[in-house]
Amino acid sequence: VKSAVQSLSKWYLRQARALPWRENHDPYRIWISEVMLQQTQVATVIPYYHRFLKELPTLEALAAAPTEKVLQLWSGLGYYSRARNLQKGAQYLVEKYAGKFPRMREEIEEVPGIGPYTAGAILSIAFDLPEALVDGNVQRVFARYFGIQAEIEQRETQRLFWQHAATWVKAAEAPRVLNQALMELGAMICTKGTPKCDLCPLAQTCVARAKGWQEELPRRKARRKAVDLWWQGFVVEKKGKIFLRQNQKGEWWTDLWDFPTRPLTSREVWEKPPAFEARRLAPQKHTVTHHRIHIAPYHHAVSRKPPFELGPGRWVSVEEAQNLPLSSLARKVLQAYLC
Ligand code: SF4
Repeated sequence: VKSAVQSLSKWYLRQARALPWRENHDPYRIWISEVMLQQTQVATVIPYYHRFLKELPTLEALAAAPTEKVLQLWSGLGYYSRARNLQKGAQYLVEKYAGKFPRMREEIEEVPGIGPYTAGAILSIAFDLPEALVDGNVQRVFARYFGIQAEIEQRETQRLFWQHAATWVKAAEAPRVLNQALMELGAMICTKGTPKCDLCPLAQTCVARAKGWQEELPRRKARRKAVDLWWQGFVVEKKGKIFLRQNQKGEWWTDLWDFPTRPLTSREVWEKPPAFEARRLAPQKHTVTHHRIHIAPYHHAVSRKPPFELGPGRWVSVEEAQNLPLSSLARKVLQAYLC
Protein backbone atom coordinates (compact mmCIF):
# COMPACT_ATOMS: atom_id res chain seq x y z
CA VAL A 1 0.00 0.00 0.00
CA LYS A 2 2.71 2.44 1.02
CA SER A 3 4.50 2.36 -2.31
CA ALA A 4 1.29 2.61 -4.37
CA VAL A 5 0.23 5.58 -2.24
CA GLN A 6 3.61 7.24 -2.68
CA SER A 7 3.76 6.79 -6.45
CA LEU A 8 0.23 8.05 -6.82
CA SER A 9 0.88 11.09 -4.63
CA LYS A 10 4.06 11.96 -6.52
CA TRP A 11 2.27 11.59 -9.82
CA TYR A 12 -0.44 13.99 -8.63
CA LEU A 13 2.05 16.62 -7.49
CA ARG A 14 3.63 16.52 -10.95
CA GLN A 15 0.54 16.20 -13.13
CA ALA A 16 -2.48 17.71 -11.41
CA ARG A 17 -4.58 20.07 -13.48
CA ALA A 18 -4.67 23.64 -12.23
CA LEU A 19 -8.33 24.05 -11.30
CA PRO A 20 -9.81 27.12 -9.60
CA TRP A 21 -10.83 25.21 -6.43
CA ARG A 22 -7.29 23.95 -6.04
CA GLU A 23 -5.89 27.46 -5.58
CA ASN A 24 -6.26 27.36 -1.80
CA HIS A 25 -7.64 25.18 0.96
CA ASP A 26 -10.61 27.25 2.00
CA PRO A 27 -13.25 24.72 3.14
CA TYR A 28 -16.15 26.83 1.83
CA ARG A 29 -14.71 26.94 -1.69
CA ILE A 30 -13.90 23.25 -1.59
CA TRP A 31 -17.39 22.43 -0.44
CA ILE A 32 -19.02 24.45 -3.24
CA SER A 33 -16.79 22.84 -5.88
CA GLU A 34 -17.40 19.33 -4.59
CA VAL A 35 -21.14 19.76 -4.63
CA MET A 36 -21.10 21.29 -8.12
CA LEU A 37 -18.88 18.52 -9.41
CA GLN A 38 -21.09 15.72 -8.10
CA GLN A 39 -23.20 15.38 -11.22
CA THR A 40 -21.51 17.81 -13.57
CA GLN A 41 -18.38 17.93 -15.72
CA VAL A 42 -15.40 20.07 -14.71
CA ALA A 43 -15.54 22.28 -17.81
CA THR A 44 -19.22 23.09 -17.20
CA VAL A 45 -18.66 23.77 -13.51
CA ILE A 46 -15.82 26.32 -13.83
CA PRO A 47 -17.86 29.38 -14.95
CA TYR A 48 -20.64 28.54 -12.47
CA TYR A 49 -18.09 28.20 -9.70
CA HIS A 50 -16.58 31.63 -10.41
CA ARG A 51 -19.98 33.29 -10.65
CA PHE A 52 -21.25 31.64 -7.48
CA LEU A 53 -18.22 32.68 -5.42
CA LYS A 54 -18.23 36.17 -6.81
CA GLU A 55 -21.84 36.67 -5.71
CA LEU A 56 -21.68 34.60 -2.52
CA PRO A 57 -18.04 34.66 -1.43
CA THR A 58 -18.55 33.40 2.13
CA LEU A 59 -20.57 30.91 4.10
CA GLU A 60 -22.37 33.82 5.75
CA ALA A 61 -23.30 35.33 2.39
CA LEU A 62 -24.73 32.01 1.20
CA ALA A 63 -26.66 31.52 4.44
CA ALA A 64 -28.23 34.98 4.21
CA ALA A 65 -28.98 35.05 0.46
CA PRO A 66 -32.57 34.76 -0.82
CA THR A 67 -33.12 31.17 -2.01
CA GLU A 68 -34.18 32.48 -5.41
CA LYS A 69 -30.74 34.04 -5.80
CA VAL A 70 -29.00 30.75 -4.96
CA LEU A 71 -31.19 28.89 -7.44
CA GLN A 72 -30.52 31.51 -10.08
CA LEU A 73 -26.76 31.06 -9.64
CA TRP A 74 -27.30 27.33 -9.96
CA SER A 75 -29.65 27.58 -12.92
CA GLY A 76 -28.38 25.36 -15.72
CA LEU A 77 -26.38 23.02 -13.50
CA GLY A 78 -29.38 20.80 -12.76
CA TYR A 79 -30.14 18.75 -9.64
CA TYR A 80 -31.35 21.82 -7.79
CA SER A 81 -31.77 20.04 -4.49
CA ARG A 82 -27.98 20.37 -4.29
CA ALA A 83 -28.26 24.17 -4.25
CA ARG A 84 -31.07 24.15 -1.74
CA ASN A 85 -29.12 21.82 0.54
CA LEU A 86 -25.99 23.93 0.24
CA GLN A 87 -27.90 26.86 1.57
CA LYS A 88 -29.47 24.84 4.38
CA GLY A 89 -26.02 23.54 5.24
CA ALA A 90 -24.58 27.06 5.30
CA GLN A 91 -27.39 28.25 7.60
CA TYR A 92 -26.75 25.29 9.91
CA LEU A 93 -23.01 26.00 10.05
CA VAL A 94 -23.53 29.68 10.74
CA GLU A 95 -26.04 28.96 13.47
CA LYS A 96 -24.39 26.01 15.16
CA TYR A 97 -20.68 26.59 14.56
CA ALA A 98 -20.51 30.38 14.05
CA GLY A 99 -19.66 29.87 10.38
CA LYS A 100 -16.79 27.42 10.93
CA PHE A 101 -16.57 23.89 9.61
CA PRO A 102 -16.25 21.26 12.35
CA ARG A 103 -13.31 18.89 11.95
CA MET A 104 -14.93 15.70 13.21
CA ARG A 105 -16.55 13.39 10.68
CA GLU A 106 -19.59 12.73 12.90
CA GLU A 107 -20.20 16.45 13.27
CA ILE A 108 -19.70 17.42 9.67
CA GLU A 109 -21.97 14.61 8.46
CA GLU A 110 -24.76 16.19 10.52
CA VAL A 111 -24.71 19.25 8.28
CA PRO A 112 -27.67 19.17 5.85
CA GLY A 113 -26.52 18.04 2.41
CA ILE A 114 -23.11 16.78 3.56
CA GLY A 115 -22.82 13.01 3.17
CA PRO A 116 -19.84 10.70 3.67
CA TYR A 117 -18.19 11.67 0.38
CA THR A 118 -18.39 15.44 0.85
CA ALA A 119 -17.37 15.09 4.50
CA GLY A 120 -14.26 13.17 3.42
CA ALA A 121 -13.51 15.76 0.73
CA ILE A 122 -13.75 18.75 3.08
CA LEU A 123 -11.85 17.11 5.94
CA SER A 124 -9.03 15.81 3.79
CA ILE A 125 -8.66 18.54 1.16
CA ALA A 126 -9.28 21.56 3.37
CA PHE A 127 -7.78 20.31 6.65
CA ASP A 128 -5.40 17.58 5.44
CA LEU A 129 -6.98 15.05 7.82
CA PRO A 130 -6.68 11.32 7.01
CA GLU A 131 -10.37 10.92 6.18
CA ALA A 132 -11.46 8.68 3.33
CA LEU A 133 -13.64 9.53 0.37
CA VAL A 134 -15.14 7.41 -2.39
CA ASP A 135 -16.72 8.82 -5.53
CA GLY A 136 -17.29 7.36 -8.99
CA ASN A 137 -13.67 7.91 -10.00
CA VAL A 138 -12.31 6.26 -6.87
CA GLN A 139 -14.65 3.31 -7.36
CA ARG A 140 -13.40 2.78 -10.90
CA VAL A 141 -9.74 2.99 -9.85
CA PHE A 142 -10.16 0.57 -6.95
CA ALA A 143 -12.39 -1.87 -8.85
CA ARG A 144 -9.66 -2.17 -11.46
CA TYR A 145 -6.62 -1.93 -9.24
CA PHE A 146 -7.86 -4.66 -6.89
CA GLY A 147 -9.69 -6.58 -9.64
CA ILE A 148 -13.04 -6.36 -7.83
CA GLN A 149 -15.62 -8.35 -9.80
CA ALA A 150 -18.70 -7.74 -7.63
CA GLU A 151 -21.25 -5.14 -8.79
CA ILE A 152 -20.25 -1.77 -7.43
CA GLU A 153 -23.74 -0.93 -6.19
CA GLN A 154 -23.73 -3.77 -3.69
CA ARG A 155 -23.38 -2.77 -0.08
CA GLU A 156 -20.49 -5.17 0.48
CA THR A 157 -18.58 -3.73 -2.48
CA GLN A 158 -19.16 -0.22 -1.19
CA ARG A 159 -17.84 -1.24 2.20
CA LEU A 160 -14.76 -2.64 0.52
CA PHE A 161 -14.14 0.60 -1.40
CA TRP A 162 -14.39 2.63 1.81
CA GLN A 163 -12.04 0.26 3.61
CA HIS A 164 -9.43 0.55 0.87
CA ALA A 165 -9.88 4.33 0.76
CA ALA A 166 -9.36 4.53 4.54
CA THR A 167 -6.24 2.35 4.42
CA TRP A 168 -4.74 4.39 1.60
CA VAL A 169 -5.42 7.80 3.09
CA LYS A 170 -4.00 6.71 6.44
CA ALA A 171 -0.84 5.55 4.69
CA ALA A 172 -0.40 8.90 2.94
CA GLU A 173 1.98 11.60 4.04
CA ALA A 174 -0.48 14.21 2.82
CA PRO A 175 -4.10 13.03 2.90
CA ARG A 176 -5.20 15.99 0.80
CA VAL A 177 -2.80 14.97 -1.96
CA LEU A 178 -3.71 11.29 -1.91
CA ASN A 179 -7.47 11.79 -2.05
CA GLN A 180 -7.23 14.28 -4.87
CA ALA A 181 -4.76 12.02 -6.63
CA LEU A 182 -7.18 9.10 -6.55
CA MET A 183 -9.93 11.21 -8.07
CA GLU A 184 -7.59 12.79 -10.60
CA LEU A 185 -6.34 9.40 -11.69
CA GLY A 186 -9.92 8.26 -12.28
CA ALA A 187 -10.72 11.43 -14.20
CA MET A 188 -7.60 11.57 -16.37
CA ILE A 189 -5.96 8.15 -16.66
CA CYS A 190 -8.13 5.36 -15.31
CA THR A 191 -11.04 6.64 -17.36
CA LYS A 192 -14.27 4.96 -18.43
CA GLY A 193 -13.86 2.69 -21.42
CA THR A 194 -10.19 2.19 -22.20
CA PRO A 195 -7.87 3.57 -19.51
CA LYS A 196 -4.40 4.92 -20.27
CA CYS A 197 -2.52 2.26 -18.34
CA ASP A 198 0.81 3.18 -19.92
CA LEU A 199 0.72 6.51 -18.13
CA CYS A 200 -0.56 5.16 -14.82
CA PRO A 201 1.57 5.34 -11.66
CA LEU A 202 -0.21 2.22 -10.33
CA ALA A 203 0.34 0.11 -13.44
CA GLN A 204 2.98 -2.18 -11.92
CA THR A 205 0.68 -3.65 -9.29
CA CYS A 206 -2.75 -3.26 -10.91
CA VAL A 207 -4.78 -6.49 -11.13
CA ALA A 208 -6.99 -5.37 -14.03
CA ARG A 209 -3.95 -4.45 -16.06
CA ALA A 210 -2.23 -7.76 -15.35
CA LYS A 211 -5.33 -9.74 -16.30
CA GLY A 212 -6.63 -7.55 -19.10
CA TRP A 213 -9.87 -6.74 -17.24
CA GLN A 214 -9.72 -2.97 -17.67
CA GLU A 215 -12.72 -2.71 -19.95
CA GLU A 216 -15.02 -5.01 -18.03
CA LEU A 217 -14.45 -3.36 -14.66
CA PRO A 218 -16.11 -1.84 -12.75
CA ARG A 219 -19.17 -4.05 -13.04
CA ARG A 220 -22.54 -2.43 -12.62
CA LYS A 221 -26.11 -3.59 -12.22
CA ALA A 222 -28.05 -3.52 -15.49
CA ARG A 223 -29.47 -0.05 -15.94
CA ARG A 224 -33.13 0.77 -15.82
CA LYS A 225 -34.41 1.32 -19.34
CA ALA A 226 -34.99 4.94 -20.29
CA VAL A 227 -38.61 6.03 -20.69
CA ASP A 228 -39.39 8.46 -23.50
CA LEU A 229 -41.77 11.33 -22.72
CA TRP A 230 -43.31 13.40 -25.51
CA TRP A 231 -44.13 16.98 -24.60
CA GLN A 232 -45.15 20.20 -26.25
CA GLY A 233 -43.86 23.44 -24.78
CA PHE A 234 -45.15 26.94 -25.45
CA VAL A 235 -43.40 30.25 -25.61
CA VAL A 236 -46.55 32.34 -25.32
CA GLU A 237 -45.86 35.95 -26.21
CA LYS A 238 -47.98 39.00 -25.57
CA LYS A 239 -46.89 42.56 -26.26
CA GLY A 240 -43.23 41.63 -26.26
CA LYS A 241 -43.40 39.66 -23.02
CA ILE A 242 -43.32 35.91 -22.59
CA PHE A 243 -45.11 33.80 -20.06
CA LEU A 244 -43.33 31.72 -17.41
CA ARG A 245 -44.83 29.59 -14.69
CA GLN A 246 -43.17 28.57 -11.46
CA ASN A 247 -43.06 24.85 -10.73
CA GLN A 248 -44.98 23.89 -7.63
CA LYS A 249 -44.14 21.48 -4.82
CA GLY A 250 -44.32 17.90 -6.02
CA GLU A 251 -43.49 18.86 -9.61
CA TRP A 252 -40.10 18.39 -11.17
CA TRP A 253 -37.76 21.34 -10.61
CA THR A 254 -39.78 22.80 -7.73
CA ASP A 255 -39.64 26.63 -7.54
CA LEU A 256 -37.80 26.96 -10.84
CA TRP A 257 -39.41 28.75 -13.76
CA ASP A 258 -40.64 27.01 -16.88
CA PHE A 259 -42.61 27.52 -20.03
CA PRO A 260 -46.08 25.96 -20.03
CA THR A 261 -45.83 22.37 -21.25
CA ARG A 262 -48.30 19.68 -22.21
CA PRO A 263 -47.59 15.94 -22.05
CA LEU A 264 -48.72 13.99 -25.11
CA THR A 265 -49.55 10.35 -25.46
CA SER A 266 -47.17 9.31 -28.24
CA ARG A 267 -44.54 10.36 -30.68
CA GLU A 268 -47.14 10.42 -33.48
CA VAL A 269 -49.23 13.02 -31.66
CA TRP A 270 -46.04 14.92 -30.79
CA GLU A 271 -45.13 15.25 -34.44
CA LYS A 272 -48.39 17.02 -35.25
CA PRO A 273 -48.80 20.76 -34.62
CA PRO A 274 -51.30 22.03 -32.01
CA ALA A 275 -54.81 22.98 -33.07
CA PHE A 276 -54.10 26.73 -32.85
CA GLU A 277 -51.69 28.80 -34.85
CA ALA A 278 -48.12 28.42 -33.62
CA ARG A 279 -44.60 28.44 -35.04
CA ARG A 280 -42.66 25.28 -34.40
CA LEU A 281 -39.18 25.79 -32.92
CA ALA A 282 -36.30 23.31 -32.94
CA PRO A 283 -37.18 20.23 -30.81
CA GLN A 284 -35.09 19.70 -27.68
CA LYS A 285 -34.15 16.72 -25.55
CA HIS A 286 -33.59 16.62 -21.82
CA THR A 287 -32.88 13.72 -19.48
CA VAL A 288 -34.16 13.50 -15.90
CA THR A 289 -33.19 10.35 -13.98
CA HIS A 290 -34.37 7.60 -16.33
CA HIS A 291 -36.78 9.82 -18.27
CA ARG A 292 -35.89 11.21 -21.65
CA ILE A 293 -38.05 14.23 -22.39
CA HIS A 294 -38.56 15.17 -26.04
CA ILE A 295 -40.02 18.61 -26.21
CA ALA A 296 -41.54 20.20 -29.29
CA PRO A 297 -41.51 23.93 -28.50
CA TYR A 298 -43.90 26.33 -30.23
CA HIS A 299 -43.98 30.09 -30.33
CA HIS A 300 -47.50 31.41 -30.03
CA ALA A 301 -48.25 35.12 -30.16
CA VAL A 302 -51.51 36.16 -28.49
CA SER A 303 -53.29 39.43 -28.76
CA ARG A 304 -55.86 38.74 -26.06
CA LYS A 305 -56.71 35.41 -24.48
CA PRO A 306 -54.31 32.48 -24.78
CA PRO A 307 -55.77 29.30 -26.33
CA PHE A 308 -55.31 27.32 -23.12
CA GLU A 309 -55.16 27.92 -19.39
CA LEU A 310 -51.69 29.19 -18.51
CA GLY A 311 -51.96 28.77 -14.75
CA PRO A 312 -50.14 30.94 -12.21
CA GLY A 313 -47.06 32.68 -13.52
CA ARG A 314 -45.53 35.91 -14.78
CA TRP A 315 -45.22 37.83 -18.02
CA VAL A 316 -41.60 38.83 -18.38
CA SER A 317 -39.21 40.27 -20.95
CA VAL A 318 -36.65 37.90 -22.45
CA GLU A 319 -33.98 39.63 -20.42
CA GLU A 320 -35.89 39.12 -17.18
CA ALA A 321 -36.45 35.48 -18.13
CA GLN A 322 -32.72 34.99 -18.54
CA ASN A 323 -32.15 36.27 -15.02
CA LEU A 324 -34.76 34.07 -13.37
CA PRO A 325 -33.85 30.60 -12.10
CA LEU A 326 -35.08 28.66 -15.12
CA SER A 327 -35.12 24.88 -15.31
CA SER A 328 -32.54 23.44 -17.70
CA LEU A 329 -35.36 22.40 -19.98
CA ALA A 330 -36.74 25.95 -20.05
CA ARG A 331 -33.26 27.25 -20.85
CA LYS A 332 -33.13 24.97 -23.87
CA VAL A 333 -36.58 26.09 -25.04
CA LEU A 334 -35.63 29.75 -24.57
CA GLN A 335 -32.49 29.13 -26.61
CA ALA A 336 -34.56 27.55 -29.39
CA TYR A 337 -36.88 30.58 -29.30
CA LEU A 338 -33.99 33.04 -29.55
CA CYS A 339 -32.31 31.20 -32.43
S1 SF4 B 1 -3.13 0.37 -14.56
FE1 SF4 B 1 -4.81 0.90 -15.87
S2 SF4 B 1 -6.59 -0.10 -15.00
FE2 SF4 B 1 -4.99 -0.14 -13.46
S3 SF4 B 1 -5.40 1.64 -12.20
FE3 SF4 B 1 -3.93 2.24 -13.76
S4 SF4 B 1 -5.15 3.07 -15.47
FE4 SF4 B 1 -6.52 1.91 -14.10
